[in-house]
Amino acid sequence: MTLTIALAGNPNCGKTTLFNALTGSSQRVGNWPGVTIDKKVGRIRGCDAELVDLPGIYSLSPYSPEEIVSRNYIVNEKPDAIINIVDATNLERNLYLSLQIIDMGIPMVIAMNMMDEVEKAGDHIDSDLIAKSFGISVIPISAAKKENIDKLVGAIMDAATSRKVPPHVIYDDTIESTAQEAENALKGKVPEENIRFYAFKLIDDDPLVNESVPGARESIMGSIRRMEEEYDDSADSIIADSRYRKITEVVDAAVKRAPRDERGSLSDRVDRIVTHRIIGIPIFIVVIAMVYFLALYDGESFTSPGAWATGCFNDWFAEMSADLSEWCDENDVSEITSGILIDGIMAGVGAVLGFLPQIAIMFTLLIILEEVGYMARVAFVMDRIFRYFNLSGKSFIPLLVGTGCGVPGVMSARTIESESDRRITAMTVTFMPCSAKLPIISAIAGALAGNMWVAVYAYFMGIVLVIFSGIILKKFKRLAGNPAPFIMELPPYHIPKLYGVLKGIFDRCWAFVKKAFTVVLLASVIIWFLCHFDFALNYLDPETEMEDSILATLGGYIAYIFIPLGWENHWELAASTITGLMAKENIVATLGVVLVGDSEATISSVSDALAVMLGNEAAILSFFSFNIFCAPCVAAIGAIHRELDTWGATGLAVLYQCTVSYCIAIIVYAVYGTIIGVDIDWYTYALAAVDVVILAYLLVAKDPFRQKREAKA
Ligand code: GDP
Ligand code: MG
Repeated sequence: MTLTIALAGNPNCGKTTLFNALTGSSQRVGNWPGVTIDKKVGRIRGCDAELVDLPGIYSLSPYSPEEIVSRNYIVNEKPDAIINIVDATNLERNLYLSLQIIDMGIPMVIAMNMMDEVEKAGDHIDSDLIAKSFGISVIPISAAKKENIDKLVGAIMDAATSRKVPPHVIYDDTIESTAQEAENALKGKVPEENIRFYAFKLIDDDPLVNESVPGARESIMGSIRRMEEEYDDSADSIIADSRYRKITEVVDAAVKRAPRDERGSLSDRVDRIVTHRIIGIPIFIVVIAMVYFLALYDGESFTSPGAWATGCFNDWFAEMSADLSEWCDENDVSEITSGILIDGIMAGVGAVLGFLPQIAIMFTLLIILEEVGYMARVAFVMDRIFRYFNLSGKSFIPLLVGTGCGVPGVMSARTIESESDRRITAMTVTFMPCSAKLPIISAIAGALAGNMWVAVYAYFMGIVLVIFSGIILKKFKRLAGNPAPFIMELPPYHIPKLYGVLKGIFDRCWAFVKKAFTVVLLASVIIWFLCHFDFALNYLDPETEMEDSILATLGGYIAYIFIPLGWENHWELAASTITGLMAKENIVATLGVVLVGDSEATISSVSDALAVMLGNEAAILSFFSFNIFCAPCVAAIGAIHRELDTWGATGLAVLYQCTVSYCIAIIVYAVYGTIIGVDIDWYTYALAAVDVVILAYLLVAKDPFRQKREAKA
């Protein structure tokens, strides 16, 4: 019979690493909490046992959807045994979950992970003493170094086959007698083996348990009151405190810490700088600027590795296009076929694929930063800022994920406990520049004579918009709510593992390439058709008649919307913006197809064409702002729908994103245009003024829910 083993632990304690070590699979490992969202299943190597990776959780209380997922899994699916992985460098907090799992009455083993870190610090942990105190096996391991994994497998298979459940942890008499009464009240109404868990949940006033056993809590209110009076505290704090007291007792006896350097370890000293409340932010800005600089910069005196590689790729691609075109001529290939092939597919896909080297370099740097542990520090710094603006610091993690791709970014919002924060984050993650937006960033940087700061602007403006949105949206009834408590821990710095980095880069680049050959390729062919045929389906001469094409006509209508943004009446720009809804790469691909006509599509030709069409830097920035911050691609909209549940709410979210980006674009155009002396129409000023007034009003208006929130807190 196949055994089922569940893997449970706090976020970031090495669950995924252990899962991979046990099953031989290679899931993505993140150096920040909350990367694992969905349940994953694998087979333990060499055993007839299935391992289920539960989401990282701090407790089994229903604070977050993940905690409910994990708890429901344990209660309903009844795994044969649980591996409770704990972070040995953070035992106190990690064991809190262990004490709750013990109450579940399921065979379990504690895998004490990160022992390499403990040894490195010179500390000593007496795992036998912990094992004896709680009556369960405790196996010290290092998941990353694959140390003691076999021993862990042995212990868990023993536990699962012997079905020996851990003994109860015994608390003070008053608590025990209340628990006994709670058990009596629950008898027959909950599964017998989990009854102690339910009993404590009933005392805790856990809403899920209260709902499933109505009236039970009322019947034991007498003893709960007595207990609360005796301890002069609320029932849930009494339980939590006694758990922590128990843990501290055991940990104090079992852990011998080596004397620490007065100034702290090197890691502590670095942390003091990078998480500093004031200089932490400029350091972050410089780090991100460096990332984009190394990936994208292409100036007179210096060419970044990314830009250099992209340049080489484009030269090669242009040559290939030219050869193909020659070959078509020689072989009498029909004009339409060669048009689709060269001006459609090669121009569109080539314009996008050319960015692959830059994307690879950007991801290499971002993944290294993440693996080293720096991004967790940034999340820590941002947590303070987000909290100040009443958002959960946890919202920042989806933003980091969103710089890769908006879809997992939106999905990772699921790890946020507070309903309102989760919805706000899902609505705003896509303000961040994902990899698909990199081509447009790079093309715009080119149009602005190699000015790299547009990338940094996109990144940090994205964060600012999220914060603004938090402030504004919280004032609406449906999104008002408290940010949930968030324990942000700093994982130790470590040298990134080559395999992890390579895999991260490969996964993301592969996703980009796949999209270039599917969505972008298809879109390029469609765009080519739409701009080479008129409504009567006559083939048009690209040099002279494109103005009559279907795309030009449709784009022409839409272009009016963007006139106040300084884009003038260019159907090409409107059309590319619309095709960006399919996939953001399409913006550049479309420009590649419609602008190329006779010359080969190179990025610099897209950049140059943008510069000519838009005419001035203010208009370029406005085009950029709208396209970067407006509605994301359909895949991301789908992800938002999954988080928000209804199409109505999703529609509102998209409308919100488009409105915000329109406002930002018009303000940027009006302000920057005025500064550099562009002749700006009165209606732009009027609209910009209205936007500023409305935005300012929404930002400073009194938050009608603030008082209620503070009263509650
Ligand atoms: P999860 O959030 O619990 O799934 O944790 P991950 O498996 O993503 O690991 C979090 C971080 O801890 C990653 O950077 C891992 O490389 C690191 N890590 C995991 N296990 C160990 C270990 O045994 N020793 C050390 N030093 N680091 C580890
Ligand atoms: Mg994980």
